Amino acid sequence: MTTTERRIAIGPERPGGQGLDAHQHESGDHTIRILLTDPVVGPQTDFVATCRDGVYEVWAARGMVRFERGYAAAGGYAYRVIEQIGENPVERQDPRALATVDEEVAASIASGFAGDDANTAYIEPAHLTYPLAYERIAQLFDSPNAPDLVVNPKAYAFGRQPGQHGALDVVQSRSPLVFSGPGIRRGLRTDALSRQVDIAPTIAKLCGFPLIDGRDSTGRTSGERGVAPDVYLKRQDGQPLDAIIDDAGAARPERAYIFLLDGLSNSELKHRLAHDPDGIPNLRRLIGAGAMFEYGSFTNFPSITWPSHNAIGTGAWGGHHDIVNPTYYLRETREVVTPQGQVVDTARFLGDGVETLYEAFHRVFGDWRGAEGAFTASIHEPCTRGADHATLERTVIGDRGRLRALTDEYAGDTSPKWLEDGQQGAHGESIIETRGLAQALVLYTDETHPPPTFTFHEMPLTDGVGHDYGPHSDGERAALDEADVRIGRILRMLEARGLYDGTLFVVTTDHGMAPTDASLKADQVQAVVDAGMKAVVCAPFIYLLDVAVTVTAHEDGRTAMVEVLAADADASGERPPVAGAEVTVSTHGAGVLARARTSDAGICGVPLPAAAAPEDLFVTVHHPDYNPRHLRLDGAPVHEDLRAALYGGAL
Ligand SMILES: [Zn+2]
Repeated sequence: MTTTERRIAIGPERPGGQGLDAHQHESGDHTIRILLTDPVVGPQTDFVATCRDGVYEVWAARGMVRFERGYAAAGGYAYRVIEQIGENPVERQDPRALATVDEEVAASIASGFAGDDANTAYIEPAHLTYPLAYERIAQLFDSPNAPDLVVNPKAYAFGRQPGQHGALDVVQSRSPLVFSGPGIRRGLRTDALSRQVDIAPTIAKLCGFPLIDGRDSTGRTSGERGVAPDVYLKRQDGQPLDAIIDDAGAARPERAYIFLLDGLSNSELKHRLAHDPDGIPNLRRLIGAGAMFEYGSFTNFPSITWPSHNAIGTGAWGGHHDIVNPTYYLRETREVVTPQGQVVDTARFLGDGVETLYEAFHRVFGDWRGAEGAFTASIHEPCTRGADHATLERTVIGDRGRLRALTDEYAGDTSPKWLEDGQQGAHGESIIETRGLAQALVLYTDETHPPPTFTFHEMPLTDGVGHDYGPHSDGERAALDEADVRIGRILRMLEARGLYDGTLFVVTTDHGMAPTDASLKADQVQAVVDAGMKAVVCAPFIYLLDVAVTVTAHEDGRTAMVEVLAADADASGERPPVAGAEVTVSTHGAGVLARARTSDAGICGVPLPAAAAPEDLFVTVHHPDYNPRHLRLDGAPVHEDLRAALYGGAL
């Protein structure tokens, strides 16, 4: 590799402890080895990814790859493999693989699983692909909220529910995507590719937003890149999906409405469209009048609700909007936060570097003031910041009496199946959907404000039922039927108000859903803690608790100073000292020669045997709250060779 090529590598955008720094190679390599070789979780783990020294790494039992990121001549980033041992775990990236239920079943049979039930079609990594793997892995590590290591479980080996998502693979990472309405080509089934971050710029372009001097996927503004304003949003990782835009008509929507059917699998939706000609008439109507992406839209990584919703709502990946996972660790305050756990009041977790579509609609069309300006609505939607109506920020606009009356009026939309099956959770989510329907009906008919210019509407039932019954179950079919009825009520209301023809509709989901072998009760990150590693784990993330150790041998050759700090800086930006760490000096075969404990300042002195050469002396640091460190006196690390441990001779 030449010096010139080296210089173009672009590591994490905002370094803040994510990935493995030099003080974490020992614990990081040990953790990767546990995840890939543990007798229980090893066979359940697809791969482990990290960022080290500005280079991205993916480790699997079948091989490893290191890749780097640099600016592409045509704009954005390009990725280049710089090391590979055995099989590149994410080499297969075909976005058109496993596009139907039949293909999922065939992949399961090819994986060696018996049976042809799509709802238990477990698939091994050898029969999966990882669309946009390099982009989707690298973006994660741009946020200081990102982990040291991220685990990608095998598609069928995570958690205790029959359906699951979160992983990088094509099944869990593919969402349906339909655009329908003014400016969209009618009746198109396109094989064009799309990503969640393309949705917001597409809406912005169709709705006539001006181009601005904002940041692109590389984090640089148009001005910094030396070009005219070329993005629609403050941070825009995606691009408008021009393949579906009807240039001839030049019709411009007056408003946009996103229906998000949480967790609905693209192959399940396509199966219903192909095999149930009388089913889901309202979705069928939108699809027939619009453009559907045959191979869906690829999600954020991890492919999980809160990060993905905010990727759709901002046009920026999780590594840039900073809600990187349902639950994550803030190193500087030593605090675990869980936006998805607390559900409400989560706008404050969204990073300052991005702009939501609500904020952008207000920037372009004005703030809502009485009967003037743009009115925006977030209905049960996890992306909320800037919305005038935001259920999950507890800002509900609309007459409470009308909302209650409409919720009662449409209570019969809830299938009796959920209670008959003892599925209280699904029943509750169905009631939430009815409340969402009531909000939509009120928001477009309430005379105290203009009808919403932009609505982002989350429908949770398809996700809850996908988890509890599986992605291709009778339950999922019933859940989709319910969603379709509610969408139909909203479409008819818009027609009655004369708003239908001017509305751009988007139908999508936040992630896919894969059949899971719930009997495995797989929990890869917990196995790391159980093996004795000190770490904060927020599945699928691992934040290692490490010490930064500096050994300074004095010139007299008889003493050395050891400084032990926490590897993660605190809110002051400095690494705080670690008091009470046990420091030992030893040589090969001679046992412990000296022992000391660090002071409140994280420092201790140790005597050195005059006869021993520095390169034969080893310093070991132990503290009950941190992973141990082993160094040579000259500071060189002493730890296992992960390549030899995993692949020595075998590959
Ligand atoms: Zn979800």
